[in-house]
Amino acid sequence: MRLTTRVERLRLRHTFTISRGSEDVTPVVIAELEHDGIVGTGEASPSKFYGETTESVRAALAGIEDWLAFRDPFSYHHILEEAAARLEKSRAALCALDLALNDWIGRRLDQPLFRLLGLDPERMPLSTFTIGIDTLERMVEKLREVADFPLIKVKVGMPNDLEVLRALRNVTRATFRVDANCAWTARETIEKSRELEALGVEFIEQPMPPDQLDAMEEVHAKSALPVIADENSVLPRDVPKLPGRFHGINIKLVKCGGILPALQMISMARALDLKVMIGCMIESSVGCTAGAQIGPLTDYLDLDGAALTTNDPYRGMIFDKGRLRMPYSPGLGVVRR
Ligand code: MG
Repeated sequence: MRLTTRVERLRLRHTFTISRGSEDVTPVVIAELEHDGIVGTGEASPSKFYGETTESVRAALAGIEDWLAFRDPFSYHHILEEAAARLEKSRAALCALDLALNDWIGRRLDQPLFRLLGLDPERMPLSTFTIGIDTLERMVEKLREVADFPLIKVKVGMPNDLEVLRALRNVTRATFRVDANCAWTARETIEKSRELEALGVEFIEQPMPPDQLDAMEEVHAKSALPVIADENSVLPRDVPKLPGRFHGINIKLVKCGGILPALQMISMARALDLKVMIGCMIESSVGCTAGAQIGPLTDYLDLDGAALTTNDPYRGMIFDKGRLRMPYSPGLGVVRR
């Protein structure tokens, strides 16, 4: 097997702001794994919050090139478990490798990954579309562009959160979900949850910083809305800490290291009676379509990453107002434009 990487710079339709920062361009790593005349493609959109950059991901993958060279891609389960130990500091690099291997297997067997996993894409939940933080006027304007989408995720974490939600409520009848990206306190979360519920919000994603896990017990007990872990739900080993503190988990392939650990997290969440969501970073159709391959196993989806960009280098699933239309083509089902 030969593994090569390159960087693609994804341009965003609107500057994307969450409670801890803004961006106009997101660099991602595309990995290509060639073996036996077939190329499998993977992606990693590294996040500084998790200590990763495109450089660190490319260096981590370059570091396992020789080790990979003589492996058989069909023993991908073993490869990925061993790679997880070698790539301990770069789950994003592991994700790129995992996706490229899964894509390769599907292409070699000429089947979409969802079929190899026994999944029916017609059973996929709808996905949210995200409105980033901005001035109230601009958030209303951005929502008007997508007012007929049924599910909207609103990034919150500003002093005027409730005022913003009230204004957005006048624009659409969509169900809202909010994501505070760690910006709230326990008290604030409990207080805001009541009015948010009245405004048609379905749940709150990661209200508090990940080190406030114990304080989440009170929020879990008193919040009017369910709370879903994101920054507290990174790896499979995080999941057993979450019952009684969160009602569900947001899995992202680039946080956990790809399809294999994501499936482990889903199994654990189900055993612990937690809801399951698959989310994404700003990423191309490679990463988002890979997430959607296991979408039929979830309760909630947030796979709008590619839909927020203007220069997606790949074609994959189609984001149709939140309905994800999957390509019935081999592997991840993505083609370079
Ligand atoms: Mg989140």
